Order: sequence, then C-alpha cells, then structure tokens
Amino acid sequence: MLPNVKQARYIFVTGGVASALGKGVTIASIGALLEARGFKVTILKMDPYLNIDPGTMSPFQHGEVYVTEDGAETDLDLGYYERFTDSKLTRANSVSTGQIYHTVITRERRGEYLGRTVQVIPHITNEIKNRIQLLQRQDPHLDFILVEIGGTVGDIESVPFLEAIRQFKLDHGPENTMFIHLTLVPTITLGGEIKTKPTQHSVKELLKQGIQPDILICRSAHLIEEDVKEKISLFCNVPRGRVISAPDISGTIYEIPLIYHQENLDNEIVRYFNLTVESPLFVDVINPVLSKWQHVVNVMKAPKSTIKIAVVGKYMSLGDSYRSLFEALSHGGLAHETKVDLIQIDSEDLKPENAVELLADADGVLVPGGFGERGIEGKLRAIRHARESKLPFFGICLGMQCMVIEFARNVLNWENANSTEFDAETKYPVISMMEEQIGISDKGGTMRLGAYICSLKPGSHLESAYRAQEITERHRHRFEFTNKYREKLEKAGLVVSGVSPDGLLVEAVELPVKEHPWFVGTQYHPEFKSKPLKPHPLFADFVGAALKRHSGKK
Ligand code: GLN
Repeated sequence: MLPNVKQARYIFVTGGVASALGKGVTIASIGALLEARGFKVTILKMDPYLNIDPGTMSPFQHGEVYVTEDGAETDLDLGYYERFTDSKLTRANSVSTGQIYHTVITRERRGEYLGRTVQVIPHITNEIKNRIQLLQRQDPHLDFILVEIGGTVGDIESVPFLEAIRQFKLDHGPENTMFIHLTLVPTITLGGEIKTKPTQHSVKELLKQGIQPDILICRSAHLIEEDVKEKISLFCNVPRGRVISAPDISGTIYEIPLIYHQENLDNEIVRYFNLTVESPLFVDVINPVLSKWQHVVNVMKAPKSTIKIAVVGKYMSLGDSYRSLFEALSHGGLAHETKVDLIQIDSEDLKPENAVELLADADGVLVPGGFGERGIEGKLRAIRHARESKLPFFGICLGMQCMVIEFARNVLNWENANSTEFDAETKYPVISMMEEQIGISDKGGTMRLGAYICSLKPGSHLESAYRAQEITERHRHRFEFTNKYREKLEKAGLVVSGVSPDGLLVEAVELPVKEHPWFVGTQYHPEFKSKPLKPHPLFADFVGAALKRHSGKK
C-alpha cells in the first residue's frame, strides 16, 4: 500500500447504449493496470436483478455460475476479476438488488426501523452504500475499490444503484471517487460513418441521475480518430484525454489491459486521483509492470503449436456457460506456448455410432460439470472412447462422476450403474447424494460450495501435476462417489487420487500411468482458480499430455 493512501479510492463503472459491451473485462483490465502499478485492488459487482444470486439461474440465460473461495455462487464477471487480478474475492464482492431488499425487509420485519416508513431513498440506497464500504472494512489495506454497476443506464432496475453512487461521490468527495462510463460508438455500415449520438444520449441519461462521467471508454469497431474523440469530449463534457478508445480485438481479451495502457487510461486514472507525485516512492505508480501481460499476448498471437481439445457438454450453444473452463484450457496451453482449439460437442449429439468420428480430431477430451440427465449417455460414450483409445481425458465434477459410472458399467460390467441423480432405482448407485444434502429442499446456496482441502495420493498424476500433497479447490455439487463401492472399484484399477483430509470423501479419481497416459477426474472445479499469469497445474498437465499425443500423431 502506498504511504499516503489513507482511504481507498472508488471507481464506478456504468454501461450505456447497449448491453454486453464487456464491462466485466473492462473493469478487470483496469484492476490489472492498477495492480501493475503496485496498488492493492478489489472489484465489486452490483447486479440489478432480484435473484439473491445466480446460483439458481439457467446457464443458458446467465452463463456460468462462478464460485468464490468462501462458496458464494456469483456472476461470471467475478471470474474475469480473479483471472485479471490478484484480488481474493468473497461473497461480499457480489451484490444483487435481491440481496439488498432481502436485508432491508428482514430488518423491517425485526422492527429495526422503529416505525419509520421504509423507502428506496434512503434505506435501499444506504444499504447499497454500506455494501460498497464493507469491502474496505474487511481489508483496510485496499488502495482501490472498483465497482461494476450491472445493466445499462436507462434501465429502471439500475436507478437505485445510480442514485447510491451519486450520493457516494458527494459523501466521499470527487478526490476519492471516479465515474467511468462504457459506451458504444457504432459505425453505420453504409458509408462507414462513425456515430457519436448514442454516446451523447447515454451520457445525458446519466446526467439525469446526477452523474457526470469523469472518463468515457468508447467501444467501437476500430480505433477512434482524434476528431471524433474531440466531438465526444465537447458534447459529453469530458476532457479530450479522458475519452478512451476501446476497439474490437481480433485476438485475445488479455490484450485489453495493454490497449487501455496505450490509450493512457491508467495514467489518466492516477492523475485524476493525484497519485503521480514525483517521488522515489512512486516509481511503481508511474511505471506499470506490464511485461507479463505482453508475454501472454505474444504467446497467444504466435503459439509454437496448436492442439485440439473436445469439450463434451450440455450447454454448448453458449460459450459463456463454460467461460472459466475455456479460459483455463487456454491458460493450460500458455504453459506450453500452445494454442488450444476447442471442438465443442453437444453431448446429446454424441451417439454410440458417431462418437469415434466426432472425436477423431481431438488430442484430448474434457467432460465438464453439469446437472440433470440430459446428454449423460453421450458423455459416457465419449469417456469410454477416451479410456479405450488412451486419449487424454479430464472429467470435472459431473465429468468425474460420469468417469466412475462408465468404469463401473464397462470395466466391472455393473449393468446400468448410475448416479442416483439420474436413476434413483439403479442396482449400482456408484454416485449418490451426499449425506449432508439429504432432506434439503431449498435450491439456492445449499450445495456443497466453496473451497475444501484435498489430500493427494503419493505417486498419482495429481500429485505430480500439483507438486503438493495437499491442495485447496472449489466445489459445487450435491452428489458424490459412494464409498460402499470404493474397494471394488479400486481393485478393478480405478485409482482414488484425492480425498478429503478425513478420508471420507472421494475428491479425485484417475487411471495409473501404465494404463493410460492421462485419465483424471476431479469432484472439484479447478477451472475457477486458473489465471493467464498463473495457469492451473492440472490444466497445464492435461494440455501437456494432449500435446504429447498430438506430436505422436505427426
Ligand atoms: N450434478 C452433479 C452434482 O450435483 C454435478 C454437479 C456439477 O457438475 N457441478 O453432484
């Protein structure tokens, strides 16, 4: 922490004109740039929907559910925050309108408002401000608290959040508070003319809420020319240097911090907060260390080799349903300066007759987490093919459970072995509901969630990948390996390579190296902890095995 930073600085990012402009990646990139200057940063997401959290929302609607160390089920943007920065996020980093109202209404029922009328202003807005400040109370060493306001300016749902952050700047002063607005500057196809009017309208909409943006980040197809920036500056009342161009990128999202740096964004932020004092103490502040990001981008743009990994899942039509997983695979590739191309296969399209053909080009296969019976038989077929043809295979959560089912059915010949999630009557329930889950009827936030310690078996793939005997990984599941069958499965050759410290929960399985080059399944989700600057050891190891297979093919 910098010696003169007595209180955290707050940066609020709003979005305008259109949704899905990439606010999450933008704010995560700002976090990366500030960390590169030696600041301690955290990022908070405020979502305007009424759900308490996205845990019960469909991946088709909302993309993946990202799980934090402390077991909060959060928006996938938190995944970007953790991948781009070193900040340790907890449930306090994810706030929804539903949570805010829940807190206020619970307080009202307890009579804590002493008979007063409970209102959006000040009660809801105070609770929003309280959640923003909670982060600094939790970690007084923070230099910056970045807050993403979900939704688009002009939405009815966002209004209490905008009102709360307007008040926040008043309470904490402009010297500690900054508003950044992310907008779209479209190009009209006919004539290729660039249009600033939507941005002007969006800023007017913000002004109606009492918010004047300090910095504008303008998404557009190409870099925005000086004259257009000048126009935006004039009409939106934002100094010319603080109109930042954010062109579409053709390569990797990890280039975005570098593009923003070229556009001078981080310089403008530290200048705004007056953190550019010419003193030796501020060396890092003035010269951000971006070489690691540059390396990531260089490798991604010119990889030494390319491999193909087939991912067999249920929500394939939407890339965001497996966002952390796809990112983790590309990080695994980075560890070998290799590009990982994905073959996305909908598990329902995979049939016994076409499995070999669909997986023919793959150097490795991965079956990710999921819920419900749909597509299970296709996944089992893919696993069988990977096991028999010695194709590197990685099963995660449901994928690991399917490995156990496939092994029971096809190696032990336990007919119709299954998980009780899919067949309550099966003769061989090799996967069954966890003891602690029986009798729980509420769906939200009730699974086995968050980080747990796992002990690794000496000599296993897992131990050699992690180079550790004890690790911590995040979970999100209700079902587990049934211990009753453990001995028989182990005797038949399935290695239990990870267990809970008390030995009672099977957390990982694999086949021994002499049987299969890489056949590993984890009950936990390693993808949540992988970062481009720190690829997850299991993904790096899996890609390494696939690369070996690929080189062997040539
Ligand atoms: N449906 C399985 C369970 O609840 C797997 C969950 C998952 O893959 N995240 O245990």
